Amino acid sequence: MGFIEEIARRRTFGIISHPDAGKTTLTEKLLLFGGAIQEAGAVKSNKIKKGATSDFMEIERQRGISVATSVLAFNYKDRKINILDTPGHKDFAEDTFRTLTAVDSVIVVIDVAKGVEEQTEKLVEVCRMRNIPMIVFINKLDREGKDAFDLLDEVEQKLKLNVTPLSFPIGMGYDFKGIYNIWEKNINLFSGDSRKNIEETIAISDINSPELETIVGDKPANTLREELELIEEVYPAFDRNEYLNGNLQPVFFGSALNNFGVRELLDCFIEIAPTPRPKEADTRLIKPEEEKFTGFVFKIHANMDPKHRDRLAFIKVVSGTFERNKPYLHVRHGKNLKFSSPNAFFAEKKEIVDISYPGDIVGLHDTGNFKIGDTLTEGEILNYKGIPSFSPEHFRYVNNADPLKAKQLEKGLDQLMDEGVAQLFTLEMNGRKVIGTVGALQYEVIQYRLEHEYGAKCSYENFPAYKACWVKPQDPKNEEFAEFKRVKQKFLGKDKYGQLVFLADSEFSIQMTQQKYPSVKLYFTSDFH
Ligand code: GDP
Repeated sequence: MGFIEEIARRRTFGIISHPDAGKTTLTEKLLLFGGAIQEAGAVKSNKIKKGATSDFMEIERQRGISVATSVLAFNYKDRKINILDTPGHKDFAEDTFRTLTAVDSVIVVIDVAKGVEEQTEKLVEVCRMRNIPMIVFINKLDREGKDAFDLLDEVEQKLKLNVTPLSFPIGMGYDFKGIYNIWEKNINLFSGDSRKNIEETIAISDINSPELETIVGDKPANTLREELELIEEVYPAFDRNEYLNGNLQPVFFGSALNNFGVRELLDCFIEIAPTPRPKEADTRLIKPEEEKFTGFVFKIHANMDPKHRDRLAFIKVVSGTFERNKPYLHVRHGKNLKFSSPNAFFAEKKEIVDISYPGDIVGLHDTGNFKIGDTLTEGEILNYKGIPSFSPEHFRYVNNADPLKAKQLEKGLDQLMDEGVAQLFTLEMNGRKVIGTVGALQYEVIQYRLEHEYGAKCSYENFPAYKACWVKPQDPKNEEFAEFKRVKQKFLGKDKYGQLVFLADSEFSIQMTQQKYPSVKLYFTSDFH
């Protein structure tokens, strides 16, 4: 198969949802279709229950053994499908945001009874901002839930999407009869038998044929006809380009647990979902078909086993082919690196590969060369954009609790920050270090990992900040900026890239600062260049 065909058959995507909507279950069913796993229960849930650190540690430990769960690849109908794992827990939302820079599309899973939940809103917003094509899967139709039209309204309003259903439920919960597939024009009858992997479908060429009554009964048949009429009137017809541009989101209904409506979703997905997309770098737009390899690091996974302290850097191949043992330019370091054992990921394992194509994810063993966002090329100087740091929501001083292990602490903190676990700020005034995180859980994780992986001990102390604002003066030499720095001295620090950050203690203080020093611009993500 040629290079262009290899690109054309790839689909790299992420599944996003609020915890418990059914992401893990859906992933597993998709893998079953690909023949990538043999039985249900093979995909480990990456869920953190009750926010317990011990759960997180356990998950990380398991992942250390089988990091393949970060990327689940399988073949289906000649397509190579890469599912990128996105943690659902809100404390790890940043990890998910970063993973979203490496997907070409997403599937959004929504619980039919709970509707649009908080985490879904946040994640969809990020996808919307990046015009990532989205398909919505409304899950758990075997349960009583909200009315299908109400749900579509809710999705449009809360998620600010423009939807069009490509399937529609016939009844729900106790009365759930099945799904009419608008895309394929057939009916899928629900038997509630989760052991069956491939269900029977009945083709319906004409929705007005009396055949429909025989299949689903008189009343449901009538209701369905009315509903389909309404759908045609109210929702736009599906248009692939609109979907690919992020302007239209098709919706499917089903029950992941019962493996119902999943094949329909997958069959439509492989037809409409984008092949690897071009990506913007600081100098130009790079197309996947370009001959020369480029790629970027979107995730770094530490091995939690202290005996094997290597890390795995996950690279998304954007253009060209990534080849084993070929030297590539690490743009930030300005030096060439070769990789003798790049890993590719399959459903439950990873293995060494000689060649990877655009859309693929390669895992590179790393001894500390990589940071999230690093770019590799065949020599061209360019940097991929779009992996911003968001302002943390929690801030604490970090203190060294073991004076003999200062070096270890520094190294540990440095590497954990490279992985994107949290953000470190160094105060201008006294050089003290402040860790900022999205969720309180990360502090325990950091403490645990410093101790177990680096042999360093730390303690925390509250730091009364509310938000980190990246500071950019219009004119670094003007008096206003000098005064700002003088007055706010206690609240200024540098992030790990040396950028100036204002650690504001309240919304009020941010507003006052903006009023008083209008030429000093404040940004809530680090991505303001
Ligand atoms: P995640 O947190 O989004 O990964 O959700 P899971 O896939 O772990 O599912 C959460 C719970 O919902 C589990 O108990 C699943 O068995 C259940 N679940 C998932 N899909 C369905 C479904 O279609 N119907 C029903 N009744 N339960 C489901």
